[in-house]
Amino acid sequence: MSPPSSPPTIEQSAAPAAPALRDAFAFVGERLWLDFVNSDADASATDALLDFATMVRWLDAAQVIDAERAAGMTRRAQQQPAGASAALVDARRVRAALRALAESAGTHRESRLNAVAEINRILGRSAGTRRLEMRADGAFVRAFVPGGDAFAGLMIPLVESAADALILGELPRVRRCANPRCHRVFYDATKNGGRRWCDMATCGNRAKAARHRARGRG
Ligand SMILES: [Zn+2]
Repeated sequence: MSPPSSPPTIEQSAAPAAPALRDAFAFVGERLWLDFVNSDADASATDALLDFATMVRWLDAAQVIDAERAAGMTRRAQQQPAGASAALVDARRVRAALRALAESAGTHRESRLNAVAEINRILGRSAGTRRLEMRADGAFVRAFVPGGDAFAGLMIPLVESAADALILGELPRVRRCANPRCHRVFYDATKNGGRRWCDMATCGNRAKAARHRARGRG
């Protein structure tokens, strides 16, 4: 008899140091769903959907789940590797649909319909309980505690954030960073609607320096 083959394992990243967790990813989108879209695009960081472990880290960093639930998800992924892999593939599919929606700022009919279909697909198959929770810093957040398939519930807050943007008519204010080499998207929350850069400290600064050089001062 041949030895039993070991089940496929979900790759585990080293446990991140808690304070640095948020710094490992960029949160410049002003909206949760846009931060999720940007989780594929940062050249300096890891793709948040590289594997299930990085996805859980991102969800933790984005405060979609707390550390306790993140640990629970990691354990569950070890027990149900196929389910975790499917959840990861599913998350990539949702993110691609949301990126298309963000990049067209809602003006492309096909992307809009596809995003709505993806949002409803996620919302439609998840059972659970909605809760109001108080965070450690005293702020209140809406929480969703999945009842059935826990993996399926992971995408709920992200698609709800996108649904809110559609309901509130925020899409015309969704922009792509003016740096052509940067793929980040963000919600322009400025009063005059003049935000051009994902981040002044990186893309904005680089553009300023280039202008200086062009004027022969730098
Ligand atoms: Zn940028």
